[in-house]
Amino acid sequence: MDIEDRQEERNGPVKQFQTTNRFQEKLVEARQANDHTKIDKDFNGVCYGCFKNRYVRASIFDICQHCMSKRGHETILKVAGKKWSMYCFFCGTIQDNIFILNARLCDSCNRIVARNNKHIRKKGLKSIHPFYKKLKHDFGKDYQILMQNGTNVNR
Ligand SMILES: [Zn+2]
Ligand SMILES: [Zn+2]
Repeated sequence: MDIEDRQEERNGPVKQFQTTNRFQEKLVEARQANDHTKIDKDFNGVCYGCFKNRYVRASIFDICQHCMSKRGHETILKVAGKKWSMYCFFCGTIQDNIFILNARLCDSCNRIVARNNKHIRKKGLKSIHPFYKKLKHDFGKDYQILMQNGTNVNR
């Protein structure tokens, strides 16, 4: 007997999405009704990065406006927010007008995002960002103390 069959005996039919309330059910219904955002039983759906029908997983990532203009808006699940100036996970450079997206990516597109994420976390944003580079050039290595207002310094 399979695990899913045993689970079906105990808890009824196996659900593809675990939902806790009516609002989540409505959200899942709306996404599954759309051809570009739905996934089938084997988690095959349309990838946001390469627009191919593949095995996809949903994730959250930062993307710049230039990388966003090359891709369509159909497969975006949610625009989670905006940032002024940040590292783009797709092209690996620091750009203005960053969007935080919730979308589904295939394995090869996820690998690009994971590689850039690993790079920025290893190196640190302040060693790459031009604003912090200029601060360090102007004020030296103690620029963080010099830029404070002086009320929280304990000496
Ligand atoms: Zn892809
Ligand atoms: Zn980019």
